[in-house]
Amino acid sequence: MAPIEPAVIKDIENPFESMLSRLSEAANLLNIDEDIYHLLISPAKEVKVNLPVTMDNGRVKVFEGWRVIHSTYLGPSKGGIRFSPYVHIEEIKALAAWMSLKCAVVSIPFGGAKGGIKCEPKNLSKGELERLTRAYTTALSEIFGPEKDIPAPDVGTDSQIMAWVMDAYSRQTGISTPAIVTGKPLVLGGSLGRVEATGRGVMVSALAAMEKLGMDPKSSTATIQGFGNVGSISAKLLAEKGVKILAISDVNSGYYNEKGIDIPKAIEYYLSHGYSLDDFKGGVAISNEEVLTVDADLLVPAAIEDQITRHNAYDIKARLIVEGANGPTSANADRILNEKGVMVVPDILANAGGVTVSYFEWVQNRMGYFWSEDDVNSKADEVIKTSFQKVYDISQKYKTTLRIAAYMTAIDKIAQTIRLRGIY
Ligand code: NAD
Repeated sequence: MAPIEPAVIKDIENPFESMLSRLSEAANLLNIDEDIYHLLISPAKEVKVNLPVTMDNGRVKVFEGWRVIHSTYLGPSKGGIRFSPYVHIEEIKALAAWMSLKCAVVSIPFGGAKGGIKCEPKNLSKGELERLTRAYTTALSEIFGPEKDIPAPDVGTDSQIMAWVMDAYSRQTGISTPAIVTGKPLVLGGSLGRVEATGRGVMVSALAAMEKLGMDPKSSTATIQGFGNVGSISAKLLAEKGVKILAISDVNSGYYNEKGIDIPKAIEYYLSHGYSLDDFKGGVAISNEEVLTVDADLLVPAAIEDQITRHNAYDIKARLIVEGANGPTSANADRILNEKGVMVVPDILANAGGVTVSYFEWVQNRMGYFWSEDDVNSKADEVIKTSFQKVYDISQKYKTTLRIAAYMTAIDKIAQTIRLRGIY
């Protein structure tokens, strides 16, 4: 078979192109059939919806929304819903493909999807948010389903929004269906451990990588970008393992403390100041860009895509990057980091703790029987540790990066499924 043409190596850096370039590299190393490769790069379904919502002032505003189903070869598609003014179709396509790969890396029987609504949730009242969420769920009720496509929270959405998704879908079908969505509040069938799951997976994969690099967590330092669900929990759990967190940031600014940021205090501050670190006094203010290049052993990007690019990759001081966010490192930056000898634990492995516990939530909903938090955590930790080792071994065998090894693990599994199921 002729090698698949590399998809990138040009100036533009966007998440979908970054994803394609890694996919083509991994597919070539695996000698994947070109026809299957074309299936992998083409989302199965892209749905656009326009959502009329009556605003509090009585006027009707139309919001744009999307749902992209990347694949359903391994099982029903799974993926979050993002509420953001910057959300766009290319971003959702990349995020949906990453979900397919992520589920395959950690051997979860799900395909991949992602959804989004172009809106600024901070500027919407609770009532407006509820009406918008119900409009989106109703518009997509033919797409969603506990055996078809299962949404979850992502940037800008939370457990309350998942509760409205569950309620709107259940009313539409006349059947109470908790398994339609994960990341729900506990009383509605959410899973213990789900809120912490992604940050916990970041911590577990960071410790696994540190062990390979001979780094002792108790004498290591970290810098963390993004202080939402993933960033703050990663920071908290890493600090509990003895890692000194030198810097943190949110969308507006960063804070640095050479003695280490007091993370529980920072979380308390963030939550009591409307999800903002503005004027936090636990460190000196630094810029968002500086947070990424702080002289620390470990960098956890846990905000949004394309934060580490060819423009700042040379300035990164960390020897280990563990990607809490999806797609924080562009394909061009990967090449630079690799040259510098930085180990990168890729998103589709490092932040897979979230979808793992989402899967556990779905399983518990379908059984109607709930597990203890210890059970959930120990099962999820095991998934991340085993997956890390599997990916690490492939990276050693093929002398490639952990990212390409993770893509190879995923593609191999999806390709096998496609071959067995057949195409007609
Ligand atoms: P969140 O909305 O809870 O928090 C996002 C945080 O990033 C906020 O603190 C925000 O202020 C900050 N931020 C946004 N833009 C920034 C910027 N330019 N610079 C610095 N900080 C910025 O979202 P989250 O759930 O923590 O998700 C963060 C990332 O992790 C996303 O890429 C998401 O797709 C990914 N992820 C989340 C989960 C999950 O379970 N929540 C699972 C897997 C991956």
